[in-house]
Amino acid sequence: MSFTKLQNQVAEGLQQIMDPEINTVSIVDLGMVEKIEIGQREDGYTVNVILLPTFLGCPALGIIKGNIIKSLFALPEIASATVQYAYHPPWTSDRITPQGLQGLKAFGISAPPSINEEDGSWEAECPYCSSMYVTVDNLFGPTACRSILYCKNCKNPFEVMKPISNLM
Ligand SMILES: [Zn+2]
Repeated sequence: MSFTKLQNQVAEGLQQIMDPEINTVSIVDLGMVEKIEIGQREDGYTVNVILLPTFLGCPALGIIKGNIIKSLFALPEIASATVQYAYHPPWTSDRITPQGLQGLKAFGISAPPSINEEDGSWEAECPYCSSMYVTVDNLFGPTACRSILYCKNCKNPFEVMKPISNLM
């Protein structure tokens, strides 16, 4: 297999790896993939994937790492596969692709809120009724990655991803 073809296959493989907690969004669309390093040695290619964790201490990180390594070793030309997490630059919600935002919405998770610079309040769109009339109900949500907001229009609670990885 040529180098370029392998590069494409690795990229395609990563596109199939979903966030284990949000199975409608791939790690590529979440903006987690920072770099794919491919090298060559006598017995095959070496691949090192550098990921930016969306949130430090997210329980999904170990699962994602294992799934990537498994998918890479499915390609017989790959002799070595590694995954590293990097913390610089920090992940921010700006890295999520439009397709990623749609996947989040399909899962009932709103696009990450924008933060009002004047008073620090969060502005988010309700995934059910698209109202912006929402309030932060519980900053800490079910996982470290997400928070619960409450829609004052349709009276539903919903989740949002926290906008910056170091906002804990
Ligand atoms: Zn609503």
